[in-house]
Parts: sequence; C-alpha cells; structure tokens
Amino acid sequence: MSESENFDIVVVGAGIIGVATAYYLQKNNPNKTILLLDRYLAAGQANTAMSAAAVRNMFASSTNQLLTDTTIKFIEHVQEELGYDLFFEKCGYLWLLSDSQFNSESVQMWMKRMEASGIHYKAYDKQQLKEMMPGLNVDFQGSEEAELMNLKEVSYGLFGGDCGVLDPTRYVEFYLEEFRKIGTVKPRYGVNVESLILEADPKLELPGEPFVWQNKRVIGVKTDKGEIRAECVVLATGAWANELLDPIGMNSKTKVKKRQMFVVHGAENEGLKQLLSTKGFNEVDMCPFVIMPSAGVYFRPQKQEQGFWIGCGDKLGREYKYIQTDDDLVPESAYYENSMFPVLSAYFPDFATTRPVNSWAGSYCYSPDAIPFVYYENGVLVANGASGSGIMKADAMARIADALYRGLPEAELYGGKKIASETLTIKKRNVEIESVVI
Ligand SMILES: Cc1cc2nc3c(=O)[nH]c(=O)nc-3n(C[C@H](O)[C@H](O)[C@H](O)COP(=O)(O)OP(=O)(O)OC[C@H]3O[C@@H](n4cnc5c(N)ncnc54)[C@H](O)[C@@H]3O)c2cc1C
Repeated sequence: MSESENFDIVVVGAGIIGVATAYYLQKNNPNKTILLLDRYLAAGQANTAMSAAAVRNMFASSTNQLLTDTTIKFIEHVQEELGYDLFFEKCGYLWLLSDSQFNSESVQMWMKRMEASGIHYKAYDKQQLKEMMPGLNVDFQGSEEAELMNLKEVSYGLFGGDCGVLDPTRYVEFYLEEFRKIGTVKPRYGVNVESLILEADPKLELPGEPFVWQNKRVIGVKTDKGEIRAECVVLATGAWANELLDPIGMNSKTKVKKRQMFVVHGAENEGLKQLLSTKGFNEVDMCPFVIMPSAGVYFRPQKQEQGFWIGCGDKLGREYKYIQTDDDLVPESAYYENSMFPVLSAYFPDFATTRPVNSWAGSYCYSPDAIPFVYYENGVLVANGASGSGIMKADAMARIADALYRGLPEAELYGGKKIASETLTIKKRNVEIESVVI
C-alpha cells in the first residue's frame, strides 16, 4: 500500500455488519470504489466468531422485531432459495418462565406486541414442558439451595418457531463472496486503523487547521500501513468504535461488556443426548435455544458437536469495559463453576456430570435502548450498538446504512418492508426501549 490512497468508501471492520454493509453499498453504488479492511487476518474473526449465532425475532420493540424478522427471512432466503448453506437450523427459542414472570405486565405486553406484529410464538404450560423436554426440572420441592440462589420454578414456556441457529462464519462468507463478485477492490486484512482523519471543509491550508469556526469532516483513516482517503468512512468496528470516535469528539453512546461462552459435549451423556434431540418443538427434532427463568443463563444446541454452548447475560455486577488487551477476553472458568453451573444444573440436572471442553469470550456493544445505531455524520457512517444481537440484525442494518449513504428517506428491508432511514440515528432516533435483552 502506498503512502496515501484514495477510494470513494472505506469500510473499517469486516465483522458481519461490515461485510454486509460493504456488500449493499457496492451493489447499490456500482461505480464507487469500496475498500473493506480489518486489523485481523480474515473477516469475521472478532465478536462475530465469538457469538452464539442464534437468531430470534422475539423482541418487544417494534424496531428490533422488524430488524430481526427481515434479517431472519433473508437468512432463510439465502439458504433455501440461493442454495448457500448457512447451517441455519430453525430450532426455535424457548423462554422458560415462572408463573409470576409469565403473568407480569412486561411479559404480557411483550406477547401482545409480538401478536400485533405477526411474530409467531406459542405458550406451553408446565405439564407440556415436562413431557416434551427431557431432563427439565420443573419442581424444586422447596429446595433450600434453589431458594438461596433465587431460582424461580418453571411454570411456562414461550416458544418462537421462526428463530434458530446458524454458522456465523458461513454468513460472513456469503456477503464477502457477493461483495467480491461485484467489487473492483480486494478486501485488505492485517491493517489497523489508528485514527480517523478530521479536516477542515473547505481547507484553507493555514497552519493549525481545523479551527473551531470551520466546518470539519472525516476525510479518511490513518492506518499502520499508510493513509487512506475516502469520501465516506464506514465504521463497522463494533465494540471498538469508541477507540476511533472518542479522539475526534464524536460520542458513540455505546458501552462494552464482556460475554463468555462455555462448550459442553453431550455424546457420552445419555440425558444430554436426549435433550439435544428434543422432539415436538420444531421440524428438525432438535432442542431449542433455551433461556432459564433466573440469572440470565441460556444454552444453545450445537448439533455438529453433539453438545451445547452455554452463556449468561449477566447484568448488575459485570463491569462495562473497553477491550484493551488479550487478557480482557479470557473466559473465566470460576465464573462458569460458581455462577452459571449451579443455575444450569438446577434446571437441567443432566449437566451436573459434565464440564466444559472449550470456552471463549467476546463482548457486546450496547446502546442505551438496546436498539442499534446507524447514522451518517461528519463523513462517518457508523453501524454498531447491536447490543448482543448483531448477527440477527446485520442484513437490515446494512441496508439502512446504504440508504443513508445514498440520502434515501427510507430503506427497503428484505421482503419489501420499509423503515425511515433516520430511525436508528442519534439525532433523529425514533425507537422504543427494548426490554427483551439476553
Ligand atoms: C458471547 C457472545 C454471544 C453472542 N451471541 C449472539 C447471538 O446469539 N446472536 C446474535 O445476533 N449476536 C450475538 N452476539 C453479538 C454479535 O456477536 C455481535 O452483535 C456482532 O458480531 C457484531 O458484529 P460487528 O461486525 O459489529 O462486530 P465484530 O464482529 O466484532 O467486527 C468488528 C471488526 O472491526 C475490526 N476492527 C475494530 N477496530 C478496528 C481498527 N481500528 N482497525 C481495523 N479493524 C478494526 C475488528 O477486528 C472486527 O473484525 C454475541 C456476542 C458474544 C460476544
């Protein structure tokens, strides 16, 4: 790479949101030169690869419902109609709920909002769950341990049959291959963007520019391999957005929290084997993605591995922290043993005899309302803040980013549904607060 290069658009970050955005920008702006770059040596290696890669449309806010429902339908279209296997399996999501949770105002409101938006779900009662889910403990029989841990007994299940799991790497590859087919510029890896270049607009060539009274805009990026100039800089750097935005005084309004995943194999465990091939919920005879009623513990079936990925959406007590060193991304085995495992094994005792064979950690990039940001300000087009659900929102976010770039008032999402392009911006944000965050 030479000292200073020029492109129409530079997309920083080749995670799922960056590759999807690069693809739609190139598809709809065929004459523009677009450089996609990432500091890692391949696309999709950061949080996209660390994710549970589960997708659900079961949200409470109409915005998240729309972003996810259209993205999931696009995922199905890619797999079923374009024949590109994303290993998408419609196993469904199952929320296990206590009696008081199910009858709470927030869950009743959530169900009403899903009904109003045509999001399919089904409620199961305790007896049905007991018959259908191998090994589920629905009766704590006054257990002191359960009481000590504030564990709520399961009374209901809320199941969403349009939800499922996929392979995030395949999904990244899909957009990347499509982008490569139409783009003229090859993606570049191993390039670290050190800063955004902010310049006066217009430039007066005076020493000390930009002055406070001048208009300013980002005109490119400074990387460890030289300077790249572009009319539009797309920031799809997810959890790392603040590193680049803070120094130029742009407030991304996002915060970062560590999230971990622990893998348990079930091939040698008869109970877990049965759980893995739970029947009755879906057409693939597979265990759904299950969320416990307490402590935010969940598991995702992993058919190829004959096992489960276990995670936890811990809230109070888990600090917000930028990722600075590799140590920030080390999974904590004691956290699994002392925090997640007791909850998991109380609801599903078959997990009691197994221990994780693998684990990893990544991070969520949270927005204040748990709805993503997509905005174009000062020459920077930012798409982030997916709040732990970027895989399931990527297609919609990327189409909105492209509409903003083209100055369109509306973005057309997969299936023809429309959304005002400025809905997810900071300045003209028009969203409710999302309450169903895992
Ligand atoms: C444990 C865990 C479980 C999750 N489960 C789910 C789930 O089930 N479903 C779901 O939808 N989502 C899930 N998520 C969230 C999901 O992973 C993210 O929302 C999604 O990956 C965000 O995509 P992204 O492209 O913004 O980020 P990333 O994949 O993190 O991509 C950002 C890219 O930017 C690059 N980058 C950053 N800074 C620079 C720089 N200065 N120079 C060059 N390159 C840079 C990085 O190298 C990286 O490749 C989970 C996340 C975690 C951690």
